[in-house]
Amino acid sequence: MNALKILFVSPEVDPFVKVGGLADMAGSLPKGLAALGHDVRVVCPYYGLARERPGWTALEETLGVDVGPRALWARTWRTTLPGSRVPVYLIEHDAFFARGGVYDGPWGPHGDNDLRFAFLCRAALALCQQLRWIPDVAHGHDWTTGLLPVLLNTTLRATELGRVASVFTIHNLEHQGYANPRVLDFARIPRSEFRPDSVESFGSVNMMKAGLYHSTKLTTVSPTYAREIRTPEGGWGLDPVLRFRGGDLIGILNGIDTTVWNPATDRLLAARYDEGDLRGKALCKAALREETGLAADADAPVFGVVSRLASQKGLDLLAAALPRVMEEMRVQFVILGTGDAGLQDAFSGLAARHRGRLAARIGYSNELSHRIQAGSDFFVMPSRAEPCGLTQMYAMNYGTPPIVRATGGLADTVEQYAEGKGLGTGFLFGEASARALYYTIGWACSTFYDRPADLAALRANGMRKDFSWNRSAERYEEVYRWAVEARRRA
Ligand code: ADP
Repeated sequence: MNALKILFVSPEVDPFVKVGGLADMAGSLPKGLAALGHDVRVVCPYYGLARERPGWTALEETLGVDVGPRALWARTWRTTLPGSRVPVYLIEHDAFFARGGVYDGPWGPHGDNDLRFAFLCRAALALCQQLRWIPDVAHGHDWTTGLLPVLLNTTLRATELGRVASVFTIHNLEHQGYANPRVLDFARIPRSEFRPDSVESFGSVNMMKAGLYHSTKLTTVSPTYAREIRTPEGGWGLDPVLRFRGGDLIGILNGIDTTVWNPATDRLLAARYDEGDLRGKALCKAALREETGLAADADAPVFGVVSRLASQKGLDLLAAALPRVMEEMRVQFVILGTGDAGLQDAFSGLAARHRGRLAARIGYSNELSHRIQAGSDFFVMPSRAEPCGLTQMYAMNYGTPPIVRATGGLADTVEQYAEGKGLGTGFLFGEASARALYYTIGWACSTFYDRPADLAALRANGMRKDFSWNRSAERYEEVYRWAVEARRRA
């Protein structure tokens, strides 16, 4: 089979800039595709102010981007994804990108997010023209790249880019990018597209909807989420569009980057370990306690959390369950997260009340996130909705059975524990309530104290699971070929 040329456009790419799981995917799937022999190139904004980075080179030619009344100019930096030869092009245009926060400033979302990301889409395509590298497929992610397929179908349809197929991945349907129709003029997309069966929703441009209507094929990040978003309960108002495009939509589980997330090689840990020898994990637990100020209570299980603090993640359920959990169970908690101010306060307050038993680190720390995965006995993730979720997969591979709500990708990746049978990889519950979470934490706690053989089996089952990109990258390859074929016929 012939190799494909794949343009990958994302607002975040690990390790250059990361807000959530999208960055992990954008930093790792391209490597999986390159390993299958494809020519993948990644485009992402350059948000920093520092001019020079080791290993980065600026392209000689400036990039003209046809937006607004007059073209704008950008500088392009080229580097590669670490551990690979996959090129990453970072688009520098300070007026749009040089500011703290990828999506938000101190007062909420940046007011010009529509223009910023329309600029990214147009710049990515302009770069292809400049490099004389015409991809077979342009792969965009979430609302920020929703105008990419619209450009290909309208403004650029008559150019050499007009035959490029598009694939659009939904990582989180909740954020849709509502914008003033001015963004169409800015992107030079005809106003005739401002209609409900194209980019319009409720009198605004809906950039997510634009991507859903215009892309050749659609994917989302787990099979269960692919079903959920077609229903009124999970569709965030776009379920009719997703039912309409249902025949072009499939769910493919995200993989994890096992060169970064592997307890046998992870340099951020106090000690390394694998399924055959968990002594290193015990050292990681002791080190985590010391680092976070938890008491050295030889017996107690440590429950870890690493998450954005948002209602989607269900951590208000945890905050509500914790007072009773801390009172009744001999357990310890370490919580790392940032986001919602009310939740930050709730966890800080609980930490002050249960010093030595509950630690809350409000903020973002990649190092600590690895150490929590390794040093905990259980990982808590009570998400209300979870398109895929990566942290539960990291947890399983680190021998830390997750406690999750059975939704989206959590339902697809975690297997329910069966007592006394040595089966399962974690603990699932259904109802989004503090009560259900409280009971499930209790179930994990009793497993820890009363059924150590079962716990050992759970750990081993999770560590043996292959969550790497190998399989999913092949599924994406199939989708790309399916899209190329469909575009050829269009
Ligand atoms: P989402 O994309 O909804 O945030 P995922 O589980 O798919 O959820 O991905 C979250 C990613 O962000 C994981 O790699 C996780 O380790 C990381 N992460 C989230 N919060 C923090 C934090 N406070 N510090 C460090 N890493 C974090």
